[in-house]
This record gives sequence, structure tokens and C-alpha cells, in this order.
Amino acid sequence: MSINLFHICFMQNMLQRIQIQNSLRNSPFYSYSCFVWIFTRLSNWVGWVGFRLGQDTLGCVILNRIDFLKRIEPSVYRVGSGYQFNRLGVQCTNEGFSGLEFASGIPGTVGGAAYMNVGANGQETANAIDTAEIVTVDGRHQILYRSDFAFGYRMSPFQAMQDLTAIVAVTFRLLPSASVKERQQAYLRKRLWSHLVWERTTGSVFRNPPGMGVSAGELIEKAGLKGFRVGSAEVSKVHANFFINTGSSNSREMLELIGLVKAKVKKEFGIQLQEEIQYVGPFCKYSRIN
Ligand SMILES: Cc1cc2nc3c(=O)[nH]c(=O)nc-3n(C[C@H](O)[C@H](O)[C@H](O)COP(=O)(O)OP(=O)(O)OC[C@H]3O[C@@H](n4cnc5c(N)ncnc54)[C@H](O)[C@@H]3O)c2cc1C
Repeated sequence: MSINLFHICFMQNMLQRIQIQNSLRNSPFYSYSCFVWIFTRLSNWVGWVGFRLGQDTLGCVILNRIDFLKRIEPSVYRVGSGYQFNRLGVQCTNEGFSGLEFASGIPGTVGGAAYMNVGANGQETANAIDTAEIVTVDGRHQILYRSDFAFGYRMSPFQAMQDLTAIVAVTFRLLPSASVKERQQAYLRKRLWSHLVWERTTGSVFRNPPGMGVSAGELIEKAGLKGFRVGSAEVSKVHANFFINTGSSNSREMLELIGLVKAKVKKEFGIQLQEEIQYVGPFCKYSRIN
């Protein structure tokens, strides 16, 4: 693996993370005081108000700069996990390959996209993955083959791996397509109109309920919650599954808004919405505690 200066910074942080995890494993405070998270583009998280990583809790922040792209074959790309997913989507499409055209306009990194199994317009990251390279907590570099793993809607095997430190690179296998550019442009136009790319938002807050034939956004809209606010935190008037910070909102308001929307949808339709976003903070029930 080629490592430039930025990569070394990443590797140092990663080693720090491994050391923190190992050294605290036997500590009585481990389960709630050791909190380690990979922040990349922070496209998909809500942090606890007033929470200071490294002060209120032990942990480290990794800014992923593994951003190389290597063409293995004309339609096969090996990409560093810190590479911008949006940029990759545009690049592959411009070169006439299909599989990641949906990525245009989606913020975040390749690592984040693989971890969350990001998808849109009937496509998802998992379908284009050939292999993923990871580093484990004990520092081993492993290559995982797509065929050995099951992905689901916004679910990846990485989310359940106890020994994962980071995805470091992903190899994508794409297909030639004459119409890919046209498709990408159509997706992008739709996204620019409906997905509020200029707003302060995490993207979709909730997963679509499985097997119901109705999206989370439709349920929220039918519950009459478009434009509903807690302080400056607002359910988008355009896309009801996007919540927006319209001014000086904080995570307390955002968490309250999320709770109220969940309660209203449950009351109206008997459906329990599940978050797609991830919570970060020592007191957040759903924080990923390693
Ligand atoms: C305007 C907007 C539109 C969006 N549209 C869509 C959409 O259409 N479809 C969709 O699916 N999502 C969408 N999203 C959500 C978001 O873009 C993705 O979830 C994003 O790809 C997350 O990547 P990230 O690098 O920002 O990860 P982060 O948000 O920083 O992290 C997300 C999770 O991935 C983990 N992670 C990140 N990198 C690594 C790594 N290298 N190794 C191990 N774990 C890692 C983190 O620990 C965390 O658990 C949208 C978001 C916004 C703001």
C-alpha cells in the first residue's frame, strides 16, 4: 500500500486508536469512558451537546486522508477509504462505467459509503464492491471479498465487526455503459432539487421501514410534520426525512425533534422509525462503544 504524508498521519492516529483500545480493554471504565470513532466527513452523525471528544471522554478522532485512486483494469478501481465518494462517482461515470453513478452529490468518503452501504435510485455501494481492505484492532491488514459478506439496506458487515479499526481501501468492479452519463445527470438534477444539498443537514435521518412499501419521508409527511420545528431544528419542507439546522440549532434540539417525530409516526401509523444517522457522545444510547 502506498503511503504518503497524509496517510502516515492517518496511520499514526489509527495506531493510537489501537493502543487506546488495547490499553483500556481491561479498565473498569472501558465500557463507558473509552469512545473511539472514525470521523471522516461527518455526513452522518449527530453529536451530544457540549460533548468534547478527548476531554469528556477518552478517544481519538481520525481524519481520513487515504485518498488515492488506482485503475487496476479499465473498469476496476482500487480507492483509498478517504477518497470523496461523490468525486469517485463522477469520475467513473465520466469514464463510461456504471455502478456508482448514484454517488454524485452524496457527501462523505469511500470508507463511510462502504460502512453505511450508501445507496440511492435503486443502486447501492455494496453492489459495486469487489474487495474491501481493513485493518483490525490488533493491527492486521485483511482483504475481504464481497462474495463472502452479506450487505443489507444501509447495513454492512463492517457495522458488526468487533475487531475492525478501519476500512482502508475498497476495490470497485464496474460495468461499461453507454447511457451512464445521462442517468447520472438525471439523478443529480433530482438531488439538487429535492435533497437540499445547500442546507445544514445530515441527509436522511431515518431508514425506510422494511417491507412496508412506504418511505420514512412519506410517513413523516403524512403525519403532518413537514416544517415542524424544535427551536431552529426543522423537518424540511421539501424532503420530510431531512432535518435541517436553520440557524443556531444544537444537538439537544435536534435530538428532541427526532424523538417527537418518532413518537408522532408511531402514534399515527404504529410504525417505529429507526435512525439511519448515528449518534456520537458518551450519553447517547446508540453510540458505537468499541
Ligand atoms: C445532503 C446529504 C445527502 C445524503 N444523501 C444520501 C443518500 O442519498 N443515500 C445514502 O445512503 N446516504 C446519504 N447521505 C448520508 C451520508 O452521505 C453517508 O452516510 C456518508 O457516506 C457517510 O460517509 P462519511 O465519510 O461522512 O462518514 P461519517 O458520517 O463520518 O461516518 C459514518 C459511519 O461510518 C464509519 N466510518 C467512516 N469511515 C470509515 C472507515 N474508513 N472505516 C471504518 N468505519 C468508517 C464511522 O465510524 C461512522 O460509524 C446523505 C448525507 C447528506 C448530508
